[in-house]
Amino acid sequence: MKDREEIPYKMIQLIRGFKDILPGETELWRHIEKVAASLFEDFGFKEIRIPVMEKTELFARSIGEDTDIVEKEMYTFPDRKGDLITLRPEATASIVRSYIQHKLYASDPVRKFYTIGPMFRRERPQKGRYRQFYQINAEVFGVGSAYIDAQLIFMLMNLFSRLSVTDTEAHINSLGCPVCRPNFRTAISEFLSSKTDALCADCQRRSSRNPLRVLDCKVPTCREAVTDAPSVLEHLCPECAEHFDILKTSLKNLDVPFVTDKRLVRGLDYYTRTTFEIQTGSLGAQNAVAGGGRYDGLVKTLGGPDIPAIGFAIGFDRLTEITGLKASDFEQKPDVFIAALGEKSQSKALEWACALNMQGIKAETAFGDSSLKSQMKRADKLAAPYVLIVGDKELEEGAVLLRNMATKEQVSVPLDNIVETLKANSLK
Ligand code: AMP
Repeated sequence: MKDREEIPYKMIQLIRGFKDILPGETELWRHIEKVAASLFEDFGFKEIRIPVMEKTELFARSIGEDTDIVEKEMYTFPDRKGDLITLRPEATASIVRSYIQHKLYASDPVRKFYTIGPMFRRERPQKGRYRQFYQINAEVFGVGSAYIDAQLIFMLMNLFSRLSVTDTEAHINSLGCPVCRPNFRTAISEFLSSKTDALCADCQRRSSRNPLRVLDCKVPTCREAVTDAPSVLEHLCPECAEHFDILKTSLKNLDVPFVTDKRLVRGLDYYTRTTFEIQTGSLGAQNAVAGGGRYDGLVKTLGGPDIPAIGFAIGFDRLTEITGLKASDFEQKPDVFIAALGEKSQSKALEWACALNMQGIKAETAFGDSSLKSQMKRADKLAAPYVLIVGDKELEEGAVLLRNMATKEQVSVPLDNIVETLKANSLK
């Protein structure tokens, strides 16, 4: 029999379309999270955390049976009792469920939430498209006015500029409401009836059940076929037209550049009025970095009161790829490295390192018997600006050496109150 160690084990790789976010990247992710949370909180948003799994029915009912997400992209499986559950493909449905379930509207229907976390869609992986990806979501409940729509888009664009994202463009459109949408639906159906051959199989099926979804299809032939499709804006009722005008005027007043994009649709009945997408030239094919819109009918559809709402989702992964900030700008380096030689010094180094760490100073030390040379090399590698050198002789003499790695200067520091001395020398 072969020795156990000789049996070759196949290395287990992560699941296709999933990825690790490693140290060196997480610093940037964390920075973005902090900037987003702080900006959103200034605008009155509060954090909500929702589960990563929900009953499948929630997504089927909210996102819609005819969508790519529900038709083919959800990670859905029966749990041990046979109930169908789904890894969330987006956050809005869960936030709406939570708003209704906890009757958050009862004391104050106006609520602003944000959440940051992973979403799961079984799409074909490619650059900028993953099966587990992250979104930053913001949702506002209880305000129907177009002013809040403008404020939301303003906040979103300002997040991008705070994160040094350039080359972004806000695309906006209106989807009308249950009063004016049927006219538009008829116009689209008529238009599509002459295009059937050019449409993909999904769209051929959708064009009778939910023709608006065809405008949303990403298949190039479908996109081409709908280039001259009628615009929803020509079919808006006076109230929806006024709502859209207020949005446009408000965005102009707030100096938010935008383009009106008649192709931007969400083909479900409870999506109403404002819809928007932030596109960038820096991402190639996956050019949408955020998308959002008004869903005035969704709270009611999911069993709550008739309360309007609007929200957006930013693609966090894509955001990290287009920010002008570099992960290296946020890399954490030690403030001081303690090079300890000999048993006694090592034990002291442990005490000092812990005491310094507890006071917010990043002190590193190498626990081991390596030579001074190799410890200095390690300090260099970690880019520690200072090294504290301590051996048995230094301990006996009651003073240790503090070396400035840039100037190569070394000063003797008394052992008593070494922690305070280091802090006073302001290593930070
Ligand atoms: P959606 O929820 O489809 O409106 O998407 C909102 C944003 O999430 C998009 O603009 C993308 O930036 C991002 N996003 C959507 N799907 C993926 C994916 N599979 N991988 C990475 N980012 C995604």
